[in-house]
Amino acid sequence: METFIQHARGLTARIADRQDERETYSRLAAGQSPLALFITCSDSRVVPSLITGARPGELFELRTAGNAVPVYQEDMPACAEAATLEYAMRVLGVADIIVCGHSHCGAVGARARGEDLTGAPAVRDWLTQQLSDALPQDGEPSVAAAVQQHVREQLDRLRGYPCVQERLSKGEVTLHGWFYEVHTGLVVAHHPASDLFLPL
Ligand SMILES: [Zn+2]
Repeated sequence: METFIQHARGLTARIADRQDERETYSRLAAGQSPLALFITCSDSRVVPSLITGARPGELFELRTAGNAVPVYQEDMPACAEAATLEYAMRVLGVADIIVCGHSHCGAVGARARGEDLTGAPAVRDWLTQQLSDALPQDGEPSVAAAVQQHVREQLDRLRGYPCVQERLSKGEVTLHGWFYEVHTGLVVAHHPASDLFLPL
């Protein structure tokens, strides 16, 4: 923790030291117009700005255990995922949504392997509710096949949200499915035509 505190203490000085950084950061006070909504897992090994090179203000993020988005229902209770998605679509007008699953995902792996999560009931219930029963049985440590299928399903779920549908129908937003290897940095993307994940 101490290294994080030291880094945070030094941030204003590092910004103040460079004129280009000062100008970049001062513009952020005027508001945000991010280029994309990046939906990914809470896993610490997945760092969206590292993967994309995004600078402050460029990426709107939604992170959940297993990068799951609840299925849209008309009478669904208020939830952070729906609110974040709606804000990105209707307020910010973000032009691209990336759902980024990752290798060695604990959430998808637990679901795919049917792990006992009685000691973590909130995790168990979230995964039971949000991750499909039909994920492929995946014995690989990377659980790549299960995660990639899970990403396909999250893209389908996004299409069920009216705030996404209305902008898809006008060609104002594009959906992307990515799979990131935590141990190599490789990113592959879902190609709708072939339904395969291929290098970017
Ligand atoms: Zn994960």
